[in-house]
Amino acid sequence: MLRIYNTLAKRVEEIHPTTAGLIQMYTCGPTVYRDAHIGNMRTYLMADWVRRSLIHSGLEVTHIKNITDVGHMRQELVEAGGDKMLMAALAEGKTVQEIADMYAGRFFRDEARLNIMEATVFPWASHHIPEMVSIVESLVAKGHAYEKGGNLYFDVPSFPGYGKLSNNTGSDLLEGVRSEADPLKSDPRDFTLWKAAEPGRDLKWDSPWGPGFPGWHIECSAMASKYLGESFDIHTGGVDNIFPHHEDEIAQSEAAFGNQHVNYWIHAQHLLADGAKMAKSGGNVFLIEELIERGFSPLSFRYLCMTVRYRHRMNFTFTSLKAAEKALTGLRHRVWLWSQEPEAGGYEAQIEEYRRRFWEHVESDLDLPSALAMTWEMVRSELPGRAKMALLLEFDQMFGLDLDKAPDENLVAPDVTATLTARGEHREKADYSAADTIRGQLATGGYVVQDTPNGTLARPKTPLELRQDKWVSVSSSREVESYLNEPADLDFTFILNAYGYPGDVKRCIESMLTHAGDHSVEAIVIDNGSTDGTGELLEEMQGEHSNLRVVHCDHVIGDAASKNIGLMQSRGRNIVVMDGSAEITGDILSSIAQKLDDPTVGIFGPWGLSTGDMQHFHEEVEDGDADAMQAYCMAFRRESVNTVGLMRECFRFYRNLDIDYCFQFKDKGYRVVADSSLPLVRHEHRQWTELDDNQRDELSRKNFGRFLKRWGNRPDLLIAADAVGFENQQRFHH
Ligand code: AMP
Ligand code: ZN
Repeated sequence: MLRIYNTLAKRVEEIHPTTAGLIQMYTCGPTVYRDAHIGNMRTYLMADWVRRSLIHSGLEVTHIKNITDVGHMRQELVEAGGDKMLMAALAEGKTVQEIADMYAGRFFRDEARLNIMEATVFPWASHHIPEMVSIVESLVAKGHAYEKGGNLYFDVPSFPGYGKLSNNTGSDLLEGVRSEADPLKSDPRDFTLWKAAEPGRDLKWDSPWGPGFPGWHIECSAMASKYLGESFDIHTGGVDNIFPHHEDEIAQSEAAFGNQHVNYWIHAQHLLADGAKMAKSGGNVFLIEELIERGFSPLSFRYLCMTVRYRHRMNFTFTSLKAAEKALTGLRHRVWLWSQEPEAGGYEAQIEEYRRRFWEHVESDLDLPSALAMTWEMVRSELPGRAKMALLLEFDQMFGLDLDKAPDENLVAPDVTATLTARGEHREKADYSAADTIRGQLATGGYVVQDTPNGTLARPKTPLELRQDKWVSVSSSREVESYLNEPADLDFTFILNAYGYPGDVKRCIESMLTHAGDHSVEAIVIDNGSTDGTGELLEEMQGEHSNLRVVHCDHVIGDAASKNIGLMQSRGRNIVVMDGSAEITGDILSSIAQKLDDPTVGIFGPWGLSTGDMQHFHEEVEDGDADAMQAYCMAFRRESVNTVGLMRECFRFYRNLDIDYCFQFKDKGYRVVADSSLPLVRHEHRQWTELDDNQRDELSRKNFGRFLKRWGNRPDLLIAADAVGFENQQRFHH
């Protein structure tokens, strides 16, 4: 039987069902006016593994997963002004219900892709308003809730057990830290059960207190008690749900029903991406759909989640996803090979020992990494192939990787079978070169060919294998070699971070190569995870220009990381970083070379910025010293990179990265110098113009914060500081 960490008991406990043979389990489900991202899916996977382990113990599991389509919707609608799809749907005249249906459909599709077992019931919050109202009424009757101005609040001080799940009694709220405290609450910790509809709101329901809508927490109390009873076995969610959502749910349910609400609370830790909290503004929120677009099988994400304990934070990277996919393909490939082997008996004792060890790992607080490691030990053991296959498929009842389904990729077209037969004949005649040629043809045709003692087998390549045939790609700047310690052997390196928009990219590259003059130049273009054909265009251009080098990234790695790849790979004495929206229209390189001959100059370019307050940077320096240079075109000596360092990769978005990098130069005593007469033009900067106002605000604010945190106390670096004089500079420091 599964032993698992119970957030309520604060220790690992063995699960004992209240009703013999039956587990009743509730999982906080998705909010359906946006997509569930892979972090959310990690939490649902955890619940799926809990369920599979209990099923293995012979229990029947009733699993409820709610669909949140009401409640806190409006607040988030306002905050999520940046959700393009949502705004587009509303603009198209879609109703809130249609939007919810669409996102729920996408959620069900992703769960199926990940092989997550369907819940017994997926109750929709909007269909359970009467149940919620009735709990609120009984809370009022029992003196645990009160009405103020059409709103109903739970009276936290009336429930002595408050805080038992999270150890958070809301005392920080008591200290009045929250600025937007609701003046209607009699205690700042009280939370909303029902909220009166404000004028103009369309999502509202009648209630004894007038038209309104439910609070978020009450929906789970209502649906859980309806489908599982007033008290049930297991409740799951992500760690962010512990407080206030689950703490409040316990308070409401226990105050209303008088029983212990849930026996075992199980919470999954969060998924980070590229080392940072997943956030839309960071460009590191990934969906299952996007993994598929990039050639991955969704089940490789499932595999990846098994490599980290559910109670640990997990850092998602494309490098680790690639490794997971490789391992999963390896298991599939083996099942395919073993299935061709003859049946074999024996080895009962070893098999039983593997089985025992496997479930011991699983049931010890869902230790899937150990179960997986042991599985690989078994796969590499001396057991006959057929026995390994049987055991692996048995373990897969738990893993859920669908290793038993003959995947499409195992189906081989008849002409391939004929080719294989022909190849076999060549081999028999020891004509290995003819056999190798055929193997090569099959490989280019998208097949993996394997010679086994039972003959030659072929399987179609997976989408990822096919993609990797197209071009090599990297997942981070750390995978790229640095040549910075080697001497420069060219005059110039152009660096372009291509974030999509193939037309712009082409225009920019052609302008670099056309106006090189007598200088020896190379262009390094980083395909920053594009999916709009930019990668293909770059491959084509690379074939035509020997001095163009392309580095493909398998996802959007961010502006600084991308430019760092260019810096590390550069071989030119001088570096010119460009943006796809800029175009060179004449000889800029001679002026750049001349200017950078002056050792006091660190950065040179046409569009110089200045500031008086570190807050507002104005593009007003036409000639001479500036505070920073716009990254549309920014030139510096390659050797400076060894002094000032690479760019800071926390800048995933371009804004303020250029300013930040200029300050790195200034900090080392270099000047930033502008000359607006350089022959260049700027076109629409789509990376900016295609964002909506909310996204711009958020991205700018975050990057500005990064810049200010590092340089805010260094006004001595500004050109204005020279005018203010030394004494003031000293003051600035203190
Ligand atoms: P939501 O749609 O925001 O209600 O979230 C759905 C589920 O995903 C909840 O159980 C959350 O606790 C969980 N969750 C949210 N963010 C993450 C994350 N980054 N990693 C793992 N789980 C998450
Ligand atoms: Zn919930």
